[in-house]
Amino acid sequence: MSAMYEGHPVNIQAKEKAAKARVSLETYYHNLVVMHNERDGRLKSLEKKMDEQRLEEDEREDQRRRQATKETDFLRLKRSRLGVDDFESLKVIGRGAFGEVRLVQKIDTGHIYAMKIMRKVDMLEKEQVAHVRAERDVLAEADNPWVVKMFYSFQDSTNLYLIMEYLPGGDMMTLLMKRDTLSEDETRFYMAECVLAIESIHRLGFIHRDIKPDNLLLDAGGHIKLSDFGLATGLKKAHRTEFYRDLSLTDYAKEANPANDPMDSKSRAATWKKNRRQLAYSTVGTPDYIAPEVFLHKGYTGMCDYWSLGVIMYEMLIGYPPFCSENAQDTYRKVMTWKENLIFPPEVPISNNARSLISRLVCNVDDRLGKNGVEEIKEHQFLHGSDWEYIRDRPPAIIIRVKSIDDTSNFDEFPEIDIKAPLTSETTSNSKDWVFMNYTFKRFEGLTQRGLV
Ligand code: ADP
Ligand code: MG
Repeated sequence: MSAMYEGHPVNIQAKEKAAKARVSLETYYHNLVVMHNERDGRLKSLEKKMDEQRLEEDEREDQRRRQATKETDFLRLKRSRLGVDDFESLKVIGRGAFGEVRLVQKIDTGHIYAMKIMRKVDMLEKEQVAHVRAERDVLAEADNPWVVKMFYSFQDSTNLYLIMEYLPGGDMMTLLMKRDTLSEDETRFYMAECVLAIESIHRLGFIHRDIKPDNLLLDAGGHIKLSDFGLATGLKKAHRTEFYRDLSLTDYAKEANPANDPMDSKSRAATWKKNRRQLAYSTVGTPDYIAPEVFLHKGYTGMCDYWSLGVIMYEMLIGYPPFCSENAQDTYRKVMTWKENLIFPPEVPISNNARSLISRLVCNVDDRLGKNGVEEIKEHQFLHGSDWEYIRDRPPAIIIRVKSIDDTSNFDEFPEIDIKAPLTSETTSNSKDWVFMNYTFKRFEGLTQRGLV
């Protein structure tokens, strides 16, 4: 091939090839530096931890040796190129706006993971590239018990793949659909965990912005973990005011079911549940949990995550979120005029403390608890008695029954589709592929967490 083309003017293809080679080389060296620094950082933090623990020298040597083994394993992993063929797909366990989530088994080790598959076509069309990167970065960087761990990521011509720890407890949306409401004790437990989870990601400098029950996952111990950081930065349609102005008969309105609005709480709960899953799968998403200041674009802070939490607390106790309506526009309108629409139905009585906490979260950002620090929320009467220090080590509010590491009984049934076949009729052209060039990622923790899933 080379000889034949010698002397010809450099064609566009060759130019593009060269550009791609440059990008991948730069990426390669950048990654080397990053890896070196990360390794350095891990060693330093180990030394610091051992200082704090005042360990004896022989114990320190032991820990250093263990760390070195992990690092070597990690390097080996980095060199091995993973792909979708390295995993056996066991079952579809979830569906979201941009793809699906499957239970998979890594063929060589037998380890179980959750694999999130996102179609590149959708990502490009819906300007989601930045969001995917954000998701990967948040999940990768956050070494945090409150965040779903990510182990690997890779891509092929059609899809992007995230390999995460599998959380067998399912999500809060599924739990809320099974149970009509939660008790105040159960609600207190999940609220306390969510407050800690949100606090922890805020500390890392992230605002989630899309806190809702389908993004609260439950681990085998029944404890909460946050997932779906696709939106941690950037904008999704559901978060934009213009969208609701333009929205007349879009997908969303068509999906919604006609129902009479002034309904009693029982039929509201029933209608809500009937439409709930559809809402979760629609690419538009539901505006039910989004804080009004987020729609306005005039700037918002991490406080918007606490509004969402207040909405979820209402839903846990009452059976449906406060602003739910038959279509997105009406929900949006109700959120913007929340004062008139935050109504506590007398037929579902809740305690004064519960009511007070909801009202201090679902309110103007200037009045919202948390504005002067998360302690304000933690000190609220409703959350009194929560173990802020060790709640993750405590028994959960609802015990998750898991028969085996690959038990999926806490998930709904989803139809199977072949993931290797494109999920849509179009496929991405190669030139667009390098938008995703830096996507492939392998996680150090992938080794240190073995068997702990
Ligand atoms: P989307 O961005 O499309 O909303 P999510 O990341 O929220 O996708 O995942 C969709 C659903 O898949 C979740 O609501 C949950 O039921 C399931 N799911 C996602 N990640 C995991 C995981 N790590 N373990 C178990 N189930 C998961
Ligand atoms: Mg989601």
